[in-house]
Amino acid sequence: MRQPRVVIVGAGVVGLSTAYSLLTQGAEHVTILEQEAVDHPRGTSHGISRLLRFEYGPDIFYSSMVRMSLSRWKRLEQVSQRTLYTRTGLLVLGNEGDNFTQPSYQAMREMDLPTERLSRQHCKQRFPQFSASDSDIITYNAEAGILHASTCLRTLKEMVISQGGTIHESCRVTHLSHDSHLRPMCIYTSTGDELSAERVVLATGPWVHRLLADLQLPVRLTRQYLLYFAGLSPSSFGIHAFPSFLTSDLYGFPFHPTNNNDYGPHWLKAASHTFGMPIDPDDILPRDDQVIAHIAKKLRSLLPALHNANLVHVDSCMYDVSPDEGFILDRVAHDPRIVFATGLTGHGFKFGPLLGELLSSMVCETPPPVDLENFQLARFSHRQQTTSVA
Ligand SMILES: Cc1cc2nc3c(=O)[nH]c(=O)nc-3n(C[C@H](O)[C@H](O)[C@H](O)COP(=O)(O)OP(=O)(O)OC[C@H]3O[C@@H](n4cnc5c(N)ncnc54)[C@H](O)[C@@H]3O)c2cc1C
Repeated sequence: MRQPRVVIVGAGVVGLSTAYSLLTQGAEHVTILEQEAVDHPRGTSHGISRLLRFEYGPDIFYSSMVRMSLSRWKRLEQVSQRTLYTRTGLLVLGNEGDNFTQPSYQAMREMDLPTERLSRQHCKQRFPQFSASDSDIITYNAEAGILHASTCLRTLKEMVISQGGTIHESCRVTHLSHDSHLRPMCIYTSTGDELSAERVVLATGPWVHRLLADLQLPVRLTRQYLLYFAGLSPSSFGIHAFPSFLTSDLYGFPFHPTNNNDYGPHWLKAASHTFGMPIDPDDILPRDDQVIAHIAKKLRSLLPALHNANLVHVDSCMYDVSPDEGFILDRVAHDPRIVFATGLTGHGFKFGPLLGELLSSMVCETPPPVDLENFQLARFSHRQQTTSVA
């Protein structure tokens, strides 16, 4: 039987992973169209690192998916012979009533992950870099770490090509026509090409509303900043002395190696995960120094050594936020040949290979590794109806 032609729009971690999954399952005609280049700086997946944490509060569903995804990243490491993941441990500085730290700790224990509770005193001895005076529950999980994001993307790109996939860069999809289910869909690009496909996957990150405007998806886009500090001692902030960390609104990483000369090997990277101001993905805005100063102030209060460090670099990036912060993976209702992923809400990178398998199972209509019902768009319309009835 002839294999369907699959076109994937977007070569971020989701699009590349979907292509890789399809190809390793034997698909023969897989093409990715990317408006810029793989690992371009405006893409959400770009950057030297992403945190892989298991802590998700009381909801063990996402924690279990992290475990599944990590085993897939490790498999990709073996196949590609690249280092994609570095274990750093994760220190969570929380509060009893935050409905996150204690339930996460419980969930980690149920999952047999190497997690422990630290008293404030113990934390001070083990990780003196932190001022933990505002936290009354502190946990440390040794099984967490850094995904080397740009290396992951470049590796996936190479794997896709070596498996027979095609990637067209600098090729923006302007629109799709799919008026008849009896005919293949037609994909129009900024380069003047027209491609036909039996299946389309839209993995367009923050550009999601461009090709799916009709669906009026409940996804908002927010502007986030990543801060980099120089002038800190490697013996205190290097990978063996300092863990990745998470508080109610901050997170950060130890120094870590990078192949990108724009970033120093001894820069501390940290950020706020509080949702920022709304943004359009094609906006080019001046950076908001007030917001950045506010984040830096909070970081200095958590990590007092930052008072003597220099804020040397700031990146800005976008989150695609869903109302419940869970992912939306679904098919377009009036044309189920089109599959889409959105609402990754700033925590999607770690799930890349698993998301790729989920989307490829939707394309091929094969059993998914995780129940897809959890990701359906309809969960929001149910919620709206319930709210309006009440
Ligand atoms: C600041 C920040 C920090 C984060 N930290 C973490 C973290 O620590 N851990 C974690 O797990 N996750 C994290 N995330 C989230 C994670 O990085 C994203 O969820 C994930 O990378 C999204 O991947 P994507 O493939 O959906 O989107 P993208 O990587 O944005 O890819 C979409 C691609 O589609 C292309 N595209 C769009 N429209 C078109 C078109 N019409 N034609 C052709 N191409 C098109 C774009 O150019 C882009 O390259 C973070 C995100 C941000 C912004």
